Amino acid sequence: MQLNDGQAAESRGEGARSDQSTPPRPARPTGTADVRSPAREPMVRERAASPPAAQGRESRLWFDGELHDATKLQATLGTHALHYGSGVFEGIRAYATRDGAAVFRLPEHLERMRKGCELLGMDFDVAEATAAVLQTLRANRLGDAYIRPLAWYGDGGLGLDVTGRSHHLMVATSATNLHLNGNRTRVSVSQWRRNPASSLPPLKLCGGYVNSILAKREVRLRGYDEAMFVDDDGYAVECTGANLFLVRDGGITAVEHRDALPGITRDTLVRITGADSRPVSMEELLDADEVFACGTAAEVAPIAEIDGRRFDANSPLTREIAAVYAATVRGESSWSGRWLTKA
Ligand code: PMP
Repeated sequence: MQLNDGQAAESRGEGARSDQSTPPRPARPTGTADVRSPAREPMVRERAASPPAAQGRESRLWFDGELHDATKLQATLGTHALHYGSGVFEGIRAYATRDGAAVFRLPEHLERMRKGCELLGMDFDVAEATAAVLQTLRANRLGDAYIRPLAWYGDGGLGLDVTGRSHHLMVATSATNLHLNGNRTRVSVSQWRRNPASSLPPLKLCGGYVNSILAKREVRLRGYDEAMFVDDDGYAVECTGANLFLVRDGGITAVEHRDALPGITRDTLVRITGADSRPVSMEELLDADEVFACGTAAEVAPIAEIDGRRFDANSPLTREIAAVYAATVRGESSWSGRWLTKA
Protein backbone atom coordinates (compact mmCIF):
# COMPACT_ATOMS: atom_id res chain seq x y z
CA MET A 1 0.00 0.00 0.00
CA GLN A 2 1.35 3.40 -1.00
CA LEU A 3 0.85 5.83 1.88
CA ASN A 4 1.11 9.58 1.93
CA ASP A 5 3.95 11.08 3.92
CA GLY A 6 2.80 13.15 6.87
CA GLN A 7 5.88 15.32 7.04
CA ALA A 8 5.65 16.23 3.36
CA ALA A 9 1.99 17.16 3.82
CA GLU A 10 2.86 19.26 6.87
CA SER A 11 5.41 21.25 4.93
CA ARG A 12 2.66 21.92 2.38
CA GLY A 13 0.54 23.31 5.22
CA GLU A 14 -2.09 20.53 5.17
CA GLY A 15 -3.70 19.01 8.23
CA ALA A 16 -4.57 20.49 11.57
CA ARG A 17 -2.36 22.00 14.19
CA SER A 18 -2.60 20.87 17.77
CA ASP A 19 -3.30 23.46 20.41
CA GLN A 20 -1.47 22.38 23.51
CA SER A 21 -1.45 25.40 25.75
CA THR A 22 -4.96 26.56 26.44
CA PRO A 23 -5.27 28.24 29.82
CA PRO A 24 -8.16 27.22 32.08
CA ARG A 25 -11.18 29.50 31.74
CA PRO A 26 -13.45 30.83 34.47
CA ALA A 27 -16.61 28.90 35.36
CA ARG A 28 -19.65 29.27 33.13
CA PRO A 29 -22.13 31.89 34.26
CA THR A 30 -25.16 29.59 33.89
CA GLY A 31 -24.36 27.89 37.20
CA THR A 32 -25.36 24.48 38.47
CA ALA A 33 -29.00 25.22 39.18
CA ASP A 34 -30.48 22.19 37.43
CA VAL A 35 -27.82 19.58 38.04
CA ARG A 36 -27.90 18.54 41.66
CA SER A 37 -26.59 16.16 44.19
CA PRO A 38 -29.22 13.48 45.05
CA ALA A 39 -28.85 14.39 48.73
CA ARG A 40 -30.21 17.87 48.01
CA GLU A 41 -32.85 16.74 45.50
CA PRO A 42 -35.24 14.21 47.03
CA MET A 43 -37.57 14.34 43.98
CA VAL A 44 -35.09 12.39 41.92
CA ARG A 45 -34.03 9.27 43.69
CA GLU A 46 -33.33 6.80 40.95
CA ARG A 47 -30.03 7.11 39.22
CA ALA A 48 -28.23 5.03 36.67
CA ALA A 49 -25.45 2.98 38.21
CA SER A 50 -22.31 4.99 38.77
CA PRO A 51 -19.63 4.51 36.14
CA PRO A 52 -16.80 2.38 37.43
CA ALA A 53 -14.08 4.54 38.90
CA ALA A 54 -11.09 4.77 36.60
CA GLN A 55 -8.40 2.33 37.62
CA GLY A 56 -9.80 2.04 41.13
CA ARG A 57 -9.91 5.82 41.70
CA GLU A 58 -12.95 8.02 42.05
CA SER A 59 -13.92 9.22 38.59
CA ARG A 60 -13.95 12.98 38.07
CA LEU A 61 -16.26 14.80 35.72
CA TRP A 62 -15.97 18.40 34.53
CA PHE A 63 -19.24 20.32 34.79
CA ASP A 64 -19.74 24.05 34.08
CA GLY A 65 -16.25 25.09 35.06
CA GLU A 66 -15.27 22.66 37.82
CA LEU A 67 -14.32 19.07 38.41
CA HIS A 68 -16.75 17.00 40.48
CA ASP A 69 -17.07 13.43 41.71
CA ALA A 70 -18.79 11.83 38.69
CA THR A 71 -21.19 9.85 40.88
CA LYS A 72 -22.53 12.92 42.65
CA LEU A 73 -24.14 14.79 39.76
CA GLN A 74 -27.46 14.21 38.09
CA ALA A 75 -29.77 16.23 35.86
CA THR A 76 -33.32 17.08 36.93
CA LEU A 77 -36.37 15.63 35.17
CA GLY A 78 -37.27 18.95 33.56
CA THR A 79 -34.03 19.02 31.57
CA HIS A 80 -34.94 20.25 28.08
CA ALA A 81 -32.43 17.95 26.37
CA LEU A 82 -34.04 14.94 28.06
CA HIS A 83 -37.38 15.82 26.50
CA TYR A 84 -36.30 17.03 23.07
CA GLY A 85 -32.72 15.94 22.47
CA SER A 86 -31.57 19.58 22.53
CA GLY A 87 -27.89 18.85 23.09
CA VAL A 88 -24.65 18.40 21.21
CA PHE A 89 -21.97 15.85 22.00
CA GLU A 90 -18.61 14.59 20.82
CA GLY A 91 -16.81 11.28 20.95
CA ILE A 92 -13.07 11.78 21.29
CA ARG A 93 -10.19 9.47 22.13
CA ALA A 94 -6.96 9.88 23.99
CA TYR A 95 -4.13 7.39 23.63
CA ALA A 96 -1.19 6.46 25.79
CA THR A 97 1.82 7.51 23.74
CA ARG A 98 5.52 7.34 24.58
CA ASP A 99 5.25 10.98 25.71
CA GLY A 100 2.20 10.33 27.91
CA ALA A 101 -1.50 10.66 27.18
CA ALA A 102 -2.44 12.62 24.07
CA VAL A 103 -5.81 13.49 22.53
CA PHE A 104 -6.31 12.74 18.86
CA ARG A 105 -7.53 15.65 16.69
CA LEU A 106 -9.02 17.54 19.62
CA PRO A 107 -9.41 20.91 17.82
CA GLU A 108 -11.34 19.25 14.98
CA HIS A 109 -13.71 17.47 17.37
CA LEU A 110 -14.37 20.66 19.31
CA GLU A 111 -14.85 22.69 16.15
CA ARG A 112 -17.54 20.23 15.04
CA MET A 113 -19.14 20.56 18.45
CA ARG A 114 -18.99 24.36 18.20
CA LYS A 115 -20.89 24.19 14.91
CA GLY A 116 -23.61 22.03 16.50
CA CYS A 117 -23.90 24.44 19.43
CA GLU A 118 -24.07 27.43 17.11
CA LEU A 119 -26.92 25.78 15.24
CA LEU A 120 -28.85 25.33 18.49
CA GLY A 121 -28.00 28.84 19.71
CA MET A 122 -25.74 27.72 22.57
CA ASP A 123 -22.53 29.55 23.45
CA PHE A 124 -19.58 27.24 23.12
CA ASP A 125 -16.09 28.34 23.98
CA VAL A 126 -13.58 26.05 22.24
CA ALA A 127 -10.73 27.19 24.53
CA GLU A 128 -12.78 26.42 27.63
CA ALA A 129 -13.78 23.00 26.27
CA THR A 130 -10.15 22.23 25.35
CA ALA A 131 -9.03 23.03 28.88
CA ALA A 132 -11.94 21.00 30.31
CA VAL A 133 -11.02 17.91 28.28
CA LEU A 134 -7.36 18.06 29.27
CA GLN A 135 -8.16 18.81 32.91
CA THR A 136 -10.57 15.85 33.16
CA LEU A 137 -8.10 13.46 31.54
CA ARG A 138 -5.36 14.55 33.91
CA ALA A 139 -7.64 14.35 36.94
CA ASN A 140 -8.59 10.77 36.06
CA ARG A 141 -4.96 9.92 35.21
CA LEU A 142 -5.98 8.19 32.03
CA GLY A 143 -3.82 7.13 29.09
CA ASP A 144 -6.16 5.32 26.71
CA ALA A 145 -9.51 7.00 27.19
CA TYR A 146 -12.83 7.75 25.57
CA ILE A 147 -13.87 11.36 26.12
CA ARG A 148 -17.46 12.54 26.06
CA PRO A 149 -18.15 16.28 26.05
CA LEU A 150 -21.84 17.16 26.10
CA ALA A 151 -23.51 20.57 25.87
CA TRP A 152 -27.24 20.70 26.60
CA TYR A 153 -30.22 22.85 27.41
CA GLY A 154 -31.32 22.52 31.02
CA ASP A 155 -34.40 23.33 33.05
CA GLY A 156 -36.80 26.22 32.47
CA GLY A 157 -40.06 24.98 30.96
CA LEU A 158 -41.08 22.67 28.17
CA GLY A 159 -41.46 25.19 25.34
CA LEU A 160 -39.51 24.63 22.15
CA ASP A 161 -38.12 28.15 22.06
CA VAL A 162 -34.64 27.84 23.49
CA THR A 163 -33.88 31.56 23.47
CA GLY A 164 -32.24 32.56 26.74
CA ARG A 165 -32.57 29.08 28.27
CA SER A 166 -29.82 27.87 30.63
CA HIS A 167 -27.33 25.52 29.09
CA HIS A 168 -24.49 23.44 30.41
CA LEU A 169 -21.28 21.75 29.42
CA MET A 170 -19.81 18.58 30.85
CA VAL A 171 -16.84 16.40 30.00
CA ALA A 172 -16.74 12.77 31.11
CA THR A 173 -13.96 10.30 30.44
CA SER A 174 -13.78 6.54 30.68
CA ALA A 175 -10.81 4.25 30.58
CA THR A 176 -10.95 2.15 27.46
CA ASN A 177 -8.91 -0.53 25.85
CA LEU A 178 -11.66 -1.10 23.37
CA HIS A 179 -10.36 -2.09 19.97
CA LEU A 180 -12.88 -3.10 17.39
CA ASN A 181 -10.19 -3.60 14.73
CA GLY A 182 -9.93 -7.31 15.42
CA ASN A 183 -13.66 -7.98 15.15
CA ARG A 184 -15.22 -8.53 11.77
CA THR A 185 -18.59 -6.86 11.89
CA ARG A 186 -21.75 -8.29 10.31
CA VAL A 187 -23.72 -5.44 8.77
CA SER A 188 -27.26 -5.19 7.43
CA VAL A 189 -28.91 -2.41 5.45
CA SER A 190 -31.55 -0.67 7.55
CA GLN A 191 -35.08 -0.08 6.31
CA TRP A 192 -34.79 3.42 7.77
CA ARG A 193 -33.36 6.33 5.79
CA ARG A 194 -30.61 8.52 7.25
CA ASN A 195 -31.81 11.90 8.55
CA PRO A 196 -31.57 14.00 5.36
CA ALA A 197 -29.08 16.85 5.74
CA SER A 198 -31.83 19.20 4.52
CA SER A 199 -33.82 18.32 7.70
CA LEU A 200 -31.07 17.71 10.24
CA PRO A 201 -27.48 18.71 9.43
CA PRO A 202 -24.96 15.89 9.88
CA LEU A 203 -23.53 17.11 13.19
CA LYS A 204 -23.53 15.38 16.54
CA LEU A 205 -26.91 16.67 17.70
CA CYS A 206 -28.29 14.43 20.46
CA GLY A 207 -31.82 14.10 19.02
CA GLY A 208 -30.49 13.11 15.62
CA TYR A 209 -29.14 9.89 17.08
CA VAL A 210 -32.65 8.48 17.50
CA ASN A 211 -32.30 7.71 13.79
CA SER A 212 -29.18 5.60 14.53
CA ILE A 213 -30.89 3.91 17.48
CA LEU A 214 -33.84 2.86 15.31
CA ALA A 215 -31.55 1.39 12.65
CA LYS A 216 -29.35 -0.40 15.17
CA ARG A 217 -32.36 -1.83 16.98
CA GLU A 218 -33.89 -3.04 13.73
CA VAL A 219 -30.83 -4.96 12.53
CA ARG A 220 -29.94 -6.29 15.99
CA LEU A 221 -33.41 -7.88 16.08
CA ARG A 222 -32.48 -9.57 12.79
CA GLY A 223 -29.23 -10.89 14.32
CA TYR A 224 -26.71 -8.41 12.82
CA ASP A 225 -24.09 -6.36 14.68
CA GLU A 226 -24.43 -3.06 12.90
CA ALA A 227 -26.73 -1.19 10.51
CA MET A 228 -25.88 0.86 7.47
CA PHE A 229 -28.02 3.44 5.72
CA VAL A 230 -28.75 3.54 2.00
CA ASP A 231 -30.53 6.46 0.29
CA ASP A 232 -33.57 6.40 -2.03
CA ASP A 233 -31.31 6.27 -5.08
CA GLY A 234 -29.38 3.22 -3.84
CA TYR A 235 -26.26 5.06 -2.63
CA ALA A 236 -24.45 4.03 0.55
CA VAL A 237 -24.55 6.67 3.30
CA GLU A 238 -22.81 5.47 6.50
CA CYS A 239 -23.27 3.18 9.49
CA THR A 240 -25.00 4.23 12.73
CA GLY A 241 -21.82 5.70 14.21
CA ALA A 242 -19.10 5.20 11.60
CA ASN A 243 -18.24 6.07 8.00
CA LEU A 244 -17.65 3.53 5.22
CA PHE A 245 -14.72 2.74 2.93
CA LEU A 246 -14.23 0.13 0.22
CA VAL A 247 -11.16 -1.52 -1.26
CA ARG A 248 -11.25 -2.77 -4.86
CA ASP A 249 -8.26 -4.00 -6.88
CA GLY A 250 -5.87 -2.34 -4.40
CA GLY A 251 -7.63 1.05 -4.67
CA ILE A 252 -9.19 2.67 -1.59
CA THR A 253 -12.41 4.69 -1.75
CA ALA A 254 -14.07 6.70 1.01
CA VAL A 255 -17.87 6.70 0.72
CA GLU A 256 -19.09 10.29 0.39
CA HIS A 257 -22.67 11.32 1.07
CA ARG A 258 -24.29 14.65 1.96
CA ASP A 259 -26.34 13.03 4.76
CA ALA A 260 -23.32 11.34 6.41
CA LEU A 261 -21.35 12.83 9.27
CA PRO A 262 -18.04 14.17 7.89
CA GLY A 263 -16.01 11.91 10.16
CA ILE A 264 -12.65 12.94 11.54
CA THR A 265 -11.34 9.37 11.26
CA ARG A 266 -12.52 9.30 7.65
CA ASP A 267 -10.64 12.54 6.96
CA THR A 268 -7.54 11.13 8.68
CA LEU A 269 -7.60 8.00 6.52
CA VAL A 270 -8.22 9.92 3.30
CA ARG A 271 -5.15 12.05 4.02
CA ILE A 272 -2.93 9.14 5.02
CA THR A 273 -3.91 6.71 2.27
CA GLY A 274 -4.74 9.19 -0.49
CA ALA A 275 -8.11 7.42 -0.86
CA ASP A 276 -10.57 8.65 -3.42
CA SER A 277 -13.63 10.31 -1.87
CA ARG A 278 -16.84 10.00 -3.89
CA PRO A 279 -20.44 8.74 -3.84
CA VAL A 280 -20.67 4.94 -3.95
CA SER A 281 -23.72 2.93 -5.03
CA MET A 282 -24.71 -0.19 -3.10
CA GLU A 283 -23.98 -2.16 -6.25
CA GLU A 284 -20.38 -0.93 -6.21
CA LEU A 285 -20.03 -1.43 -2.44
CA LEU A 286 -21.19 -5.05 -2.67
CA ASP A 287 -18.74 -5.63 -5.52
CA ALA A 288 -15.74 -4.55 -3.41
CA ASP A 289 -12.94 -6.85 -2.22
CA GLU A 290 -13.02 -5.38 1.28
CA VAL A 291 -15.30 -2.95 3.12
CA PHE A 292 -14.53 -1.31 6.43
CA ALA A 293 -16.17 1.12 8.83
CA CYS A 294 -14.25 3.83 10.65
CA GLY A 295 -14.84 6.24 13.48
CA THR A 296 -13.28 7.49 16.68
CA ALA A 297 -14.75 4.61 18.70
CA ALA A 298 -14.71 1.97 15.94
CA GLU A 299 -11.23 2.99 14.70
CA VAL A 300 -10.78 0.88 11.53
CA ALA A 301 -13.24 -2.02 11.66
CA PRO A 302 -13.31 -4.66 8.90
CA ILE A 303 -16.79 -5.65 7.74
CA ALA A 304 -17.28 -9.41 7.36
CA GLU A 305 -20.54 -9.24 5.41
CA ILE A 306 -23.39 -7.03 4.32
CA ASP A 307 -26.69 -8.96 4.27
CA GLY A 308 -25.07 -12.25 3.38
CA ARG A 309 -22.51 -10.87 0.86
CA ARG A 310 -19.20 -11.92 2.45
CA PHE A 311 -15.94 -10.03 1.96
CA ASP A 312 -12.35 -11.32 1.98
CA ALA A 313 -11.97 -12.91 5.42
CA ASN A 314 -8.36 -11.72 5.75
CA SER A 315 -9.16 -8.08 4.85
CA PRO A 316 -5.45 -7.59 4.09
CA LEU A 317 -5.54 -3.92 3.06
CA THR A 318 -7.99 -3.02 5.81
CA ARG A 319 -5.66 -4.55 8.38
CA GLU A 320 -2.74 -2.60 6.94
CA ILE A 321 -4.74 0.63 7.13
CA ALA A 322 -5.81 -0.22 10.71
CA ALA A 323 -2.15 -0.68 11.67
CA VAL A 324 -1.16 2.68 10.15
CA TYR A 325 -4.07 4.36 11.92
CA ALA A 326 -3.07 2.75 15.23
CA ALA A 327 0.51 3.99 14.80
CA THR A 328 -0.75 7.49 13.94
CA VAL A 329 -3.03 7.87 16.98
CA ARG A 330 -0.29 6.53 19.25
CA GLY A 331 2.28 9.07 18.11
CA GLU A 332 4.33 6.67 16.01
CA SER A 333 3.88 7.95 12.47
CA SER A 334 5.05 11.03 10.59
CA TRP A 335 1.45 12.26 10.66
CA SER A 336 1.06 12.06 14.43
CA GLY A 337 2.63 15.34 15.57
CA ARG A 338 0.08 17.73 14.10
CA TRP A 339 -2.87 15.67 15.34
CA LEU A 340 -2.00 14.97 18.96
CA THR A 341 -2.64 17.31 21.88
CA LYS A 342 -0.65 16.32 24.93
CA ALA A 343 -2.80 15.96 28.05
N1 PMP B 1 -20.98 8.79 11.48
C1 PMP B 1 -21.68 8.91 12.61
C2 PMP B 1 -23.16 8.95 12.55
C3 PMP B 1 -21.02 9.01 13.85
O1 PMP B 1 -21.72 9.14 14.99
C4 PMP B 1 -19.61 8.94 13.88
C5 PMP B 1 -18.89 8.99 15.19
N2 PMP B 1 -18.64 10.30 15.58
C6 PMP B 1 -18.92 8.82 12.66
C7 PMP B 1 -19.63 8.74 11.48
C8 PMP B 1 -17.42 8.84 12.64
O2 PMP B 1 -16.98 10.13 12.97
P1 PMP B 1 -15.57 10.38 13.68
O3 PMP B 1 -14.57 9.69 12.85
O4 PMP B 1 -15.44 11.85 13.65
O5 PMP B 1 -15.67 9.80 15.05
